[in-house]
Amino acid sequence: MTRLHILGAGTPTPTAERFGSSYVVETGGQLLMVDCGPATTHKLVKEGLWPTDINALFFTHHHFDHDVDYPCFLLTRWDQGAGKEEPLRVYGPDYTEEITGRLIGPEGAFIHDIDARINFRGSQNVYVNRGGMLPRRPLVVHAQNIIAGWVHEAENWRVSTAQADHVQPYLDCLAYRVDTDDCSIVITGDSAPCDTVRDLAKGADVLVSMCWDHQSVMEREGEQLGQTGTVGAGELAASAGVRSLVLVHMGPNLSGPGARERALGEVRDVYDGEVFVSEEVSSLDFARRS
Ligand SMILES: [Zn+2]
Repeated sequence: MTRLHILGAGTPTPTAERFGSSYVVETGGQLLMVDCGPATTHKLVKEGLWPTDINALFFTHHHFDHDVDYPCFLLTRWDQGAGKEEPLRVYGPDYTEEITGRLIGPEGAFIHDIDARINFRGSQNVYVNRGGMLPRRPLVVHAQNIIAGWVHEAENWRVSTAQADHVQPYLDCLAYRVDTDDCSIVITGDSAPCDTVRDLAKGADVLVSMCWDHQSVMEREGEQLGQTGTVGAGELAASAGVRSLVLVHMGPNLSGPGARERALGEVRDVYDGEVFVSEEVSSLDFARRS
């Protein structure tokens, strides 16, 4: 069984239910995090997971609603790991290496905190009491900029990527496909419906798609550029032939009374598979297709 943990299913606009993007795919004891939007570290713990459980992080793109909790995640993982955590591997489009260096490199924004925790005696005692061995080592993070078409194979999962159609040329943006022994999950990231994401999703079990707003509202207000709405998500799922569609990155207009039902109706008019409206800090299990 593969479990999709939904930590962040919102947008840059905070609502009581949603804020920013983050997901964890759990398979065979491995946890792969995709995006690290607002409060991801706290949502991760509320979901019953722990920062040191995550050894691989993938960014779809570097809008803040997808990466602003990255320093919090890095520092918490390092602090709680007590030197026993695995090195963290981080992959994403342009700026992934640069942002990592700007946060924790020699001139990084948080180097003062890292130095203080390594050198202050009281902090060393906390570290030792957590099971750490002195001298304390700084963070070990292997960050790598990747491009569409990049593929990574591990023992029981495979990650592949495709170009998403979002805010190029300002930011490069990727969609991800995770194939496990049980199933395949495609996460569109932020994207308008496009052939590259559709091709990546072809024959997948699950499509986790951006769903910013009602399609008619987006088209009336010019917000369909680089984004997917209700009808777009349904049509993408139908044309890719996926079994299940999970609606995420849902904007504030989809939070009001009746909006959820109307959105679901718009999706179901064009797609007859299983549809989930995502809830933050929850999970969905996907078993092998029988
Ligand atoms: Zn974005």
